[in-house]
Amino acid sequence: MNNPFLDQLLTREGLPRYDLIAPEHVAPAIDHLLSEARATLARVTDPATPVSWETVMEPLTDATERLGRVWGAVHHMSGVMDSPEWRDAVNSRLAEVTAFWTELAQHPALFASTKALDAQFKQQPGKDASHSARQRSLENSLRAFRLGGAELPEEQKKIFAELQARLAQLNQKFSEQLLDSTNATVVHVTDQARLDGIPAHAVESAAAEAKKRELDGWVFTLQHPSVGPVLQFAKDRSLREEIYRKQAMRASEIATEGPQNDNGPIMGEILKLRQEQAALLGYKNAAEVSLAPKMADSPQQVIDFLMDLAAKARPAAERDLAELREFAAATLNIQDLQAWDVAYASEQLRQSRYAFSEEEVRQYFQLPRVLQGLFRVIRTLFAVDIKPVMGLAPLPVWHKDVQLFEISRTGKTIGHFYLDLYARSTKRGGAWMDDSRGRRVLRDATQTPIALLTCNFSPPVGEKPTTLTHDDVITLFHEFGHGLHHLLTQVGELDVSGINGVEWDAVELPSQFMENFCWEWENLSHMTAHVETGAPLPKALFEKMIAAKNFQSGMFMLRQVEFSVFDMKIHMDLLPTQTDQPADIGRSIESQLWAIRQKIAVLVPPTFNRFAQSFSHIFAGGYAAGYYSYKWAEVLSADAYAAFEEAGTARYPEVGQRFWQEILAVGGSRPAMASFTAFRGRAPQVEPLLRHNGLLATA
Ligand SMILES: [Zn+2]
Repeated sequence: MNNPFLDQLLTREGLPRYDLIAPEHVAPAIDHLLSEARATLARVTDPATPVSWETVMEPLTDATERLGRVWGAVHHMSGVMDSPEWRDAVNSRLAEVTAFWTELAQHPALFASTKALDAQFKQQPGKDASHSARQRSLENSLRAFRLGGAELPEEQKKIFAELQARLAQLNQKFSEQLLDSTNATVVHVTDQARLDGIPAHAVESAAAEAKKRELDGWVFTLQHPSVGPVLQFAKDRSLREEIYRKQAMRASEIATEGPQNDNGPIMGEILKLRQEQAALLGYKNAAEVSLAPKMADSPQQVIDFLMDLAAKARPAAERDLAELREFAAATLNIQDLQAWDVAYASEQLRQSRYAFSEEEVRQYFQLPRVLQGLFRVIRTLFAVDIKPVMGLAPLPVWHKDVQLFEISRTGKTIGHFYLDLYARSTKRGGAWMDDSRGRRVLRDATQTPIALLTCNFSPPVGEKPTTLTHDDVITLFHEFGHGLHHLLTQVGELDVSGINGVEWDAVELPSQFMENFCWEWENLSHMTAHVETGAPLPKALFEKMIAAKNFQSGMFMLRQVEFSVFDMKIHMDLLPTQTDQPADIGRSIESQLWAIRQKIAVLVPPTFNRFAQSFSHIFAGGYAAGYYSYKWAEVLSADAYAAFEEAGTARYPEVGQRFWQEILAVGGSRPAMASFTAFRGRAPQVEPLLRHNGLLATA
């Protein structure tokens, strides 16, 4: 078969030819790879096939890697070159590909072979890195099999699968009801004076929304882009209150449109079924199931960690709130600060205290120079070279704006990355890192990794270079952290090389770590040049940026902790019995939330606030008993960066080398805690995170 996906994308040594693949190649390539993978699966699990790494895992990895890479490329193209053709191509094979991965994850014979192999590996304790990487990969798959119910007796397996299917429906229903409730109510304004303070872009959107509904004046919806500017900027207190109330009551029994979209019973049933699944798997609760593949050891450890953060952030949060109250009373004539005043008063306080505009800062960050600055940091830390790929015509890229770089060390290629930085109508929003190819050591060669880095910066206009906001710069560094995790790995087994196999609550370590370098004066002075004058960022402006960075960080920290504790606590402590009704469980979930707020929050929300009913992360997304991961990974990244602060810039290369060897290089091949401890010489500590956020009590 002549198909660019198979012939020119699935290369082991050359660069994948993204310039040649097209939607019409998808179906035949995927059909071919699926049947290849199915045939391999049948062959390696055939009772006649001897069980060894070489006869089972290697051929299976070959086949699933090919399928995964091609399907990844299809996804990538539909994300960055969206068109009806690419959408159709994805949809034409989505069900088949998903079905194959599900089949693989539950394959009884493969589970048996994996178990047998794991036993073999444990009996011959080889000490080399490749042996332990393989062992780690086997342990990961065994755990995934078990958490998927593979070890249950037939009857219970059936129950488990039914619970799984019902949970999928409930997650979907939770999202749908939240969306329906969000869309059921609007705030209609006919008096122009009420719009005072709201930015023009938000007023224009509201006018357009009114027009669409054939109404006079302005309509604010309960969607975030509409609510945010009102709460933050509207001078009219009653308008803020109205939109706050309506938004806070969404998807509850007191929602403005009535109780038909009440998510309370859905939350209750979701929690009940999760606990039933946990019990079937032999765990005490759903929190334990969630933590089984994560870095944190136990739910109690997570709670202790969070409560410690809360205690340490509390004095600063109380100060933040006192200041805000004082400012609101003195300057805004708000004597009784309410939930709907917080964002508005905070914005006014922020402006009065740190008067600088994002636009002013942006003039100093020209994209090409920022990129050079980023490469300079990477070169300093890891002693690698980054060079654009030259001499290839055409470049194997999907769009003319895409740049291609090679990363090497002492003349030896380590990997490549494709950089697609500008927003365009065919690209989905946000910024992300995808892998195109992972590192693998094969018998005859080493396959080097390739990363795809995508951002959405404004494209250059005319001759002028693109300028970035400081947030954009942070985003770029963040995504490069993920990229380096993928590219600088030295592991040879695909399942645990780079980001693969890294625990969920540790995966943001390298990305958040890289963000710190955007706050170093040394780096900023190197990577800035005013678009008109060429002058570097003035120190005074930099200092204002630093001061603004920690504005209200205490209140922010407490809010994150409150959500995280709530999420963990309900999955630990609420264990419904068979006869408990979903609506009652829903009410217990809510009373847990109120209890936690009383303990943690400095400003307890009004009694009509129904936050849980819209907490999609944990009731509709993958964050159940995992919301703490954000803070957890931030502790790791802040503490890792503190090692550099302690050493001082002169010793960056030496510490960078250790960071590479102990954290980036080993990827998922060993537990994140072991990697962190090896790098830092001790367990993680929270002080650096607190210090970076200005939350350490100063004597
Ligand atoms: Zn990230």
